[in-house]
Amino acid sequence: MPSILSEPRFHNEAVAFEFVEAALWPNGPVCKHCGETNRIGKLKGKTTRAGLYKCYACRKPFTVRMGTIFESSHVPLRVWLQVIHLICASKKGMSTQQIHRTIGGSMTTAWFLTHRVRECMKELGWPEAGKLGGEGETLEADETFIGGRAENRAYGPIPPKQSVFALVERDGRVRSFHVPNVTAANLAPIIARHAHPDSRFMTDEANMYARLGTWFVDHQAVNHSAKQYVRGDAYTNTMEGFFSILKRGIYGVYQHVSEAHLHRYLAEFDFRYSYRIKTGFDDRKRADRALLGAKDKRLTYRSTGGSRAAQASA
Ligand SMILES: [Zn+2]
Repeated sequence: MPSILSEPRFHNEAVAFEFVEAALWPNGPVCKHCGETNRIGKLKGKTTRAGLYKCYACRKPFTVRMGTIFESSHVPLRVWLQVIHLICASKKGMSTQQIHRTIGGSMTTAWFLTHRVRECMKELGWPEAGKLGGEGETLEADETFIGGRAENRAYGPIPPKQSVFALVERDGRVRSFHVPNVTAANLAPIIARHAHPDSRFMTDEANMYARLGTWFVDHQAVNHSAKQYVRGDAYTNTMEGFFSILKRGIYGVYQHVSEAHLHRYLAEFDFRYSYRIKTGFDDRKRADRALLGAKDKRLTYRSTGGSRAAQASA
């Protein structure tokens, strides 16, 4: 069986450009300056850099990297594709150190690459991202805490406890949110924005869900404090499964995630869970999906927190 890592897009810059162009320009090249799609020529020549086009409408050159997470980065596109593949194919994520050891370059570059790839995985930023659930579908909602426990920490001070709330479709997608604390006031806007009211809604018996549950066609709660975990199809075990992957990843691979960056890691775990084998995505399709998220997400070094954060959260 041929290794996926031996595929040419990971090694040949021209092929990498063709691959990204096919994904981001399904109908052919688009001038980033003026939107022209017809009068465009590909610049060829021994000294011309890969993927360079010229627009004959506005007379300006452009590449597929412009306006994406790849813009203003010196990292070759084939290395970007390697990093996207590695992060998409690792169920529990891949640490910045591991990426750094695999692709070489500086630790700061590795940190920057991994955060930009997480930016691609932010489904909430996609135009087609509607609400979870819908008629005939079941949504589970639950909360968990990241950090705050000594046994999850190999060394150093115990990081403060962070609250995470999540919504998951049974057999479908998940979205999780870093919230200051788990209260009806904090959860209400998230549920209103992300959960379709035609869904059946499954939670534990926390008081806040009694009121929020009335927004749905049906609400079932299981009493976890009385050790009741399943009553018919009333359970939140789908969520338990997701939280377990999230925690194994955060404690085992990333070890410590700073409060400021937790939402980025949540986007990464949400993405891999939502686009898994069960929903029709193998490693290759998952990486292709993440690549689509590169579009219209130019992210500056400053907006990711800069080098101080690189040292703190590496
Ligand atoms: Zn143009």
